[in-house]
Amino acid sequence: MSKPECEEALDRLFEYIDHELPEDEIHRIGEHLRECPPCEAEHRINEKIKRLVNRTGHDVAPDELRQRILTTIRATRPDAGA
Ligand SMILES: [Zn+2]
Repeated sequence: MSKPECEEALDRLFEYIDHELPEDEIHRIGEHLRECPPCEAEHRINEKIKRLVNRTGHDVAPDELRQRILTTIRATRPDAGA
């Protein structure tokens, strides 16, 4: 669960989604996401948050939205919550 590759991937997830990383790191994290379903799930959720946030024009996800997303995360990753 707390493999170093996972921590790195999750740590850089936002930069990865924003394409703010050097190409080799994008490649490395992209590879990891392909072979690690929990990280890929996290990636998709964060990408979704980013898209929703962009659409509403806020910098921060509204509380209700964040709650719904956290519920989704806990549903897909029972070991990640509480
Ligand atoms: Zn991982």
